[in-house]
Amino acid sequence: MPENRPLRIAVIGSGPAGIYASDALTKSEADVSVDIYERMPAPFGLIRYGVAPDHPRIKGIIKSLHKVMDKPEIRLFGNINVGEDITVDELKQFYDAVIYATGATDDRPLNIPGGEHTIGAGEFVGFYDANPYFEDKWDLSADSVAVVGVGNVGLDVARVLAKTGEELKVTEIPDNVYDSLKENQAKEIHVFGRRGPAQAKFTPLELKELNDSDTIEIVIDPEDIQYDEGSEEARRASKIQDMVCTRLEQYAIADPKGAPHKLYIHFFESPVEVKTDAEGRVTAFVTERTELNGDGSVSGTGKLTEWPVGAVYRAVGYKSDEQPGLP
Ligand SMILES: Cc1cc2nc3c(=O)[nH]c(=O)nc-3n(C[C@H](O)[C@H](O)[C@H](O)COP(=O)(O)OP(=O)(O)OC[C@H]3O[C@@H](n4cnc5c(N)ncnc54)[C@H](O)[C@@H]3O)c2cc1C
Repeated sequence: MPENRPLRIAVIGSGPAGIYASDALTKSEADVSVDIYERMPAPFGLIRYGVAPDHPRIKGIIKSLHKVMDKPEIRLFGNINVGEDITVDELKQFYDAVIYATGATDDRPLNIPGGEHTIGAGEFVGFYDANPYFEDKWDLSADSVAVVGVGNVGLDVARVLAKTGEELKVTEIPDNVYDSLKENQAKEIHVFGRRGPAQAKFTPLELKELNDSDTIEIVIDPEDIQYDEGSEEARRASKIQDMVCTRLEQYAIADPKGAPHKLYIHFFESPVEVKTDAEGRVTAFVTERTELNGDGSVSGTGKLTEWPVGAVYRAVGYKSDEQPGLP
């Protein structure tokens, strides 16, 4: 601990991890002064630039993050990209410690033929959450769209595509986002998972509220509700997974409510190829039917299906950005 001055700490990234770390430091016994560096013009990381606009409850944690930032020991320097505007070596010179809380914002690739023609969920999310580094207009002319990945981000993408511009207008989306969304032609959104309901990564609340929209009809083929021993074990081991499975079963047998936009959730379909025309426009998505092996894993059956879609979004996970100067 340095004498006659507080411990100087730099925190890189102003998402929830960086801000809660700063909060914990100010609550510690040490006398600290914390500088948060953020490459975006505004703080709060993916809470601001990732969480969907129709999830105000989650966005609401910004209020408690704000309170932390108001502490006199904490300063925020926005628009500073560490590694570019200031180097790791420079930080080491001026601070006693540096905490990296830089998140995971890069979309993982989909390694199949034509995978380069898919759209990363993060790019679309960056658009609708008005991230200044992403597009400010979006082509939503496809009437049928595929979303690869059965996690909450896939669900966010599918839900935003399945809702109308009017439904989203009441959220905090800016005018340019509304202008694109109101032209959205998508009537069929097909979400694909390689494995079954017991392996889906949704959370129960997000899955339940999908049905709150009057314009969304959730469609699940009862044939896709299958469990093997490994799947049953996964349900017994996790109350959350069991709730997800129960909700999916309810959707599979529900009477149609007659909503205009169909949101299909397909299980046991593994991505094989994205087909395009001569101009590189997506024309179809090909999947291979899979079957359970007994332990919750799946193998391909060789049965291929070609889905005529005009766009393929991938929500197959995120990876961290490389940070220059760090191993
Ligand atoms: C599409 C999407 C939807 C989500 N929806 C939900 C949801 O509904 N509910 C929920 O609980 N969670 C949701 N999450 C997850 C949640 O957003 C993350 O778990 C959380 O934001 C992670 O916090 P973090 O602080 O680790 O990273 P982030 O929030 O990513 O913050 C990292 C910060 O570091 C900054 N940074 C990175 N590199 C540098 C650099 N070199 N210099 C300066 N700054 C840098 C970034 O700009 C960013 O502000 C969602 C995530 C995504 C991607």
